[in-house]
Amino acid sequence: MTQSMKLLVIGGVAAGASCAARARRLSESAQITVLERGPDVSFANCGLPYHIGGEIQDRSVLAVQTPASLKALLNLDVRTRCEAVRIDRLNKRVEVKNLTSGAMEWITYDKLMLSPGASPIRPNIPGIDDSRIYTLRSLEDMDRIVEATDKGMRAVAIGAGFIGLEMAEQLNDKGLSVELVELQNQVLPQLDKKMSMLLESELKHNEVGVTLGDGIERFVSTEDAVECHLKSGKVLKADFVVLSMGVVPETMIARDAGLSLGARGHIVVNNFQQTSDPDIYAAGDAVETEELVFGGRTVLPMGGPANRQGRIAADHMLRPDIAKAYPGSLGTAIVRVFSVAAGVTGWTEKRMREAGHPCASVIVNDHQHATYYPGAKPLTLKIVWDPQTGRVVGAQATGCKGVDKRLDVLAACIQNEASIDDLCHLELAYAPPFGSAKDIINLAGFAATNLHDGLVIQTDDLSFSGVQIVDVRPKPVADAFPLAGSINIPFPTLRNNLDKLDRRHPVITVCAFGKMSYFAARILAQNGFQVQSYSGGIKGNLDPRSPAKLPTA
Ligand SMILES: Cc1cc2nc3c(=O)[nH]c(=O)nc-3n(C[C@H](O)[C@H](O)[C@H](O)COP(=O)(O)OP(=O)(O)OC[C@H]3O[C@@H](n4cnc5c(N)ncnc54)[C@H](O)[C@@H]3O)c2cc1C
Repeated sequence: MTQSMKLLVIGGVAAGASCAARARRLSESAQITVLERGPDVSFANCGLPYHIGGEIQDRSVLAVQTPASLKALLNLDVRTRCEAVRIDRLNKRVEVKNLTSGAMEWITYDKLMLSPGASPIRPNIPGIDDSRIYTLRSLEDMDRIVEATDKGMRAVAIGAGFIGLEMAEQLNDKGLSVELVELQNQVLPQLDKKMSMLLESELKHNEVGVTLGDGIERFVSTEDAVECHLKSGKVLKADFVVLSMGVVPETMIARDAGLSLGARGHIVVNNFQQTSDPDIYAAGDAVETEELVFGGRTVLPMGGPANRQGRIAADHMLRPDIAKAYPGSLGTAIVRVFSVAAGVTGWTEKRMREAGHPCASVIVNDHQHATYYPGAKPLTLKIVWDPQTGRVVGAQATGCKGVDKRLDVLAACIQNEASIDDLCHLELAYAPPFGSAKDIINLAGFAATNLHDGLVIQTDDLSFSGVQIVDVRPKPVADAFPLAGSINIPFPTLRNNLDKLDRRHPVITVCAFGKMSYFAARILAQNGFQVQSYSGGIKGNLDPRSPAKLPTA
């Protein structure tokens, strides 16, 4: 089979190109044909927003390969503007339409790879057909948006997920006035709300209009604008609109061929990317795979999984003896919005609670490297774990610098089933320009184990009645930003002021960033108080524009 295998790949970008390239490295003799509906193959779709904004100036760098270069490098037969329209499983052949000539032909296969990806959602609402409403997936889509930015200065992006945020940033960088609309009550709904607040303030700081908890109801076309009528009645006028409302898998031909699909229409595959037909493989945005932490099913339209799955499919087709099973998708993602980055790996607290899993979490604030070394920037980290086993199941980070490093370390930890105890003892690279002797990941481990071991109880709620709220921030800070209903006892004075508190009533300790309130809670607990510490501090995450050094409380 390996000697003369006919491999047919449908979709020639991330998963498809990765599969075809790996297949060639495993077999010089395989006949490998790649069908791509669009005019481009193996292009860098993740880079599209950055060409629109002008950060990537040279368009040609996004076209990573061409049919000619793939022929020369890998001896692939790449046919662009060719669409697979039907799979005949019985005769192992695919009907293909040449979109340039209109000609139809059948191509036979021994193994078929489905990597058709997912298309951006265009909701079926009034006015959606206005030609000034764009989505972004291909180089052609990108060119249309670039052209729109040459004509108009008002843009609305609908959907504040990863692509919506990148578009808002890039269009704003280009000098356009940008409004961002999100149905949920936070930007980047993939994060827990508190961890998304810094992104929201960064958008507003850069004069991006942010409308949350509101959705698009209809568009109204006028000569000089597309009017976006939101469910609340608010109307935003734009020269053009970019829809970034998520994606739907392109699985019509898989469905028509009778392959098993999941509840949301994704192709079901096993851990070697085989569909319900063992000679047909699938990978990328179109598939549903195993979820890494709990082992259920998940979909994850991201570049990393698509590329790795494509490689696994080729291994299993050509060298099943060396193929390693896909471990499952974790969900690791990051976005930059102006000077702030934020991202997630694994499960958020919100998702854990929605799924009914027992869940514990902690937020810690620190810096990406030693504060005494110039350039230290605040960093906020949240970890989520299973309180029964101590296994870390998710992490989120936000700040100016070092967000990617912490997410990557924690992604590796979660994949390797690390516990909160393991985080305490991770030995990470440290010299002052790079980190701290106790990295924020170690701190998160300390905070988590303190909770797990019962040294402190934390709360997210300051609204209990009958509770004494003790604000341990320095007096000038508490005076400048008072916390209603609290008594200010600056931390260094707490031991000498215990008589100001009533032991008969519970206490919640509060500070700016969550650290001093923990210290205060330890003092009070050891003095007989029933005490909880307010999680993460009232400032939530640190402002990256603030001075490097943390205030003393
Ligand atoms: C603007 C943008 C930014 C992104 N940024 C990031 C990022 O920063 N990080 C990240 O991890 N991910 C990012 N992604 C997501 C990532 O690009 C996708 O997860 C990845 O490309 C999916 O790969 P795929 O091969 O499944 O699908 P695609 O890359 O979409 O490729 C599928 C191809 O199949 C073709 N096709 C479909 N049906 C047929 C047919 N019947 N016949 C022939 N051809 C067909 C399509 O034309 C398409 O070109 C981004 C995506 C976009 C659009």
